[in-house]
Amino acid sequence: MIKYNLVCECEKTFESWFSSSDEYDVLKRKKLINCIYCDSTSVKKSVMAPNLSSKTNKTFKNTRLEKNIKKQFVKIRRYIEKNCTDVGDNFPYEARNIHYDKRISKGIYGKATPEDTAELLEEGIEVTTIPWINKSDN
Ligand SMILES: [Zn+2]
Repeated sequence: MIKYNLVCECEKTFESWFSSSDEYDVLKRKKLINCIYCDSTSVKKSVMAPNLSSKTNKTFKNTRLEKNIKKQFVKIRRYIEKNCTDVGDNFPYEARNIHYDKRISKGIYGKATPEDTAELLEEGIEVTTIPWINKSDN
């Protein structure tokens, strides 16, 4: 006896026993293998079933993880927007102002090129780059 994982066109998978792989081929050719869910004969062997399912799970997990990370970034974005001042393209200029003129101590956010960011960091100015996730993007 040989057990095959079969996958149907309706995307359901099920197990079926055959006396041999030849029996499977014969039954398949005669369209005698039916899906236990929808009765379709468009059923095929899912040879890689265990790997496939673990792969699917992984992708699923990754998507969930990605969503969670996105959620976190949206939260961070909301927090920043609430508590800091948007200086837009003036970010490198304003960041230097804050760093060198200690009187101002408020949080700012804005845009900076990677070069700007590198220069700021070289000058010892604390900047953090975060992905700016669109709130509607999840
Ligand atoms: Zn089916």
